[in-house]
Amino acid sequence: MSYLAHLECPRCSSRQDPDRLQNLCPCGSPLLARYDLDRARQELDRDRLRERPPTLWRYRELLPVRDPAQVVSLGEGMTPLYPVPRLGAALDLPDLWLKDEGVNPGGTFKSRGAAVGVSRARELGARVLALPTAGNAGAAWALYAARAGLGCVVVMPEDAEALPMRECALAGARTFLVRGLISDAGAVAARAALRYGWFEAATLKEPYRLEGKKTMGYEIAEQMGWRLPDAILYPTGGGVGIIGIYKALLEMEALGWIRRPFPRLVAVQAAGCAPIVQAFREGKDRAEFWPGAATVAGGIRVPKPLGDFLVLEAIRATGGTAVAVTDPEILAGIREAGRAEGVFLCPEGAALVAAARRLRQEGFLRREDRVVLLNTGTGLKYPETVPADLPVLDPEDDLPEVDLPEVGRP
Ligand SMILES: *Cc1c(COP(=O)(O)O)cnc(C)c1O
Ligand SMILES: [Zn+2]
Repeated sequence: MSYLAHLECPRCSSRQDPDRLQNLCPCGSPLLARYDLDRARQELDRDRLRERPPTLWRYRELLPVRDPAQVVSLGEGMTPLYPVPRLGAALDLPDLWLKDEGVNPGGTFKSRGAAVGVSRARELGARVLALPTAGNAGAAWALYAARAGLGCVVVMPEDAEALPMRECALAGARTFLVRGLISDAGAVAARAALRYGWFEAATLKEPYRLEGKKTMGYEIAEQMGWRLPDAILYPTGGGVGIIGIYKALLEMEALGWIRRPFPRLVAVQAAGCAPIVQAFREGKDRAEFWPGAATVAGGIRVPKPLGDFLVLEAIRATGGTAVAVTDPEILAGIREAGRAEGVFLCPEGAALVAAARRLRQEGFLRREDRVVLLNTGTGLKYPETVPADLPVLDPEDDLPEVDLPEVGRP
């Protein structure tokens, strides 16, 4: 079923056994899963994928789970990718598309990483998973751990989003709040994992969450008929999604499924937490810790991503860029996309609207470019981002005259 061959360190090139539970390389870098792509190229036919069920498991040979009976699924992946012409017209990007991860279980793309990470951890004998989270990742792992029949321990900063805390509780995860930052929650979870023999499943500290997230790249290529877009904009926190999409591009090229040029990968961050943007501008390979990180988009509030060097490589190797937008721009993006297309973006996804507008104005994006915005979650998880001060009428009142937007497609 799986062509998984070994784990490889992108920093020191050491190889590790993929068939036992692994965390970081001894050198401190995340490990990447490598597959026998030569054999896969002979044996796999991309056009046969069409016959498979619409979940991310349609790419199962390029995922790490060896035994199909170990797959833990809630129907994640193969999310819709559709044109957004009215929003595109407003941004002067007539060929603008949106991939909506909000329809995944748990309402975010984090379910991709959790489905594959939890399945593989169970296959390799893990019994209890421990992870720190700012919110959505913990919720997703709690849901899939419940589905898998595994124990789950989640550690969150006290000021994390309330809804994911409830999702963790719903799924029976033992959940703890820490007075501190995500980095403090990470240290607490790591100490507990060591002490109690739990498997530590923090972002990029195990190799398989990334494998789940890379399927966004496979899906974009397949859904566009194997003709790649010119650019993909991605709201970047830990950067797992953008690293995963780049990994998928390289794998699909080796499989002979796609050809260059690759889409230019654009990391979008919040002005209140933009370590990748800063490192990109300064030409550095590593990001510096961003003090006092603050933004309404909690999923991209990551002051020092562990995989920073991999994010920067993905951006630079594809001729991409990195941009930061402000919180008022993010909130305006939610309203603009809602009015133009009837889609409720999460704040992280809404950051892409202002970023696309700016990149078009600066000429980085050309008018004829096919551009994909990756909305990482549903706005329904963040109802407080939209004001609803509505007029209240008495039953005998008549409606006043109202202004309605123009009707018709651009
Ligand atoms: C986690 C998260 C992100 C950032 O994801 P990375 O791939 O780790 O950069 C973006 N949006 C939402 C909604 C998230 O939950
Ligand atoms: Zn190493």
